[in-house]
Amino acid sequence: MTFPICINDGCGGKVHTRKINKNGTRDIRTECYQCHKGGRNRPGVKPHKKTFCENNDGRLGFKCDATIINECQLEMDHIDGDRFNNVPENVQTLCRNCHAIKTKMFGDCKNNREITPIEVINETYISPLENPKLIELGFIVEV
Ligand SMILES: [Zn+2]
Ligand SMILES: [Zn+2]
Repeated sequence: MTFPICINDGCGGKVHTRKINKNGTRDIRTECYQCHKGGRNRPGVKPHKKTFCENNDGRLGFKCDATIINECQLEMDHIDGDRFNNVPENVQTLCRNCHAIKTKMFGDCKNNREITPIEVINETYISPLENPKLIELGFIVEV
């Protein structure tokens, strides 16, 4: 199995993986081991992770206005759900709240998607309470 390279611009290291269960399934990260351990700010490397939630533009169908006071509130997310598609265009920074919603909306599994993230991104912003997709998925209960 070939593993993708580190998401950070200029790094080129192989992504860090770790065994997550006995049958050898590996958890695959977006960054290499060196970057994960804090080396992402070394000379020649530009960190991919943003310092804010990228859903502040409403890409998930609602606008996030989370106040980020610590980097631990932010996670890197593969937009299409495929962790092997570890390219900058496919990796966004989401706060933990938005990441949870996105995971629920799209599912972690490729075969379990009702709508694609691209449709949401191209959609103009509407209030979450009026968003037909969120209503359809049962996030918003119509009154
Ligand atoms: Zn790296
Ligand atoms: Zn957010």
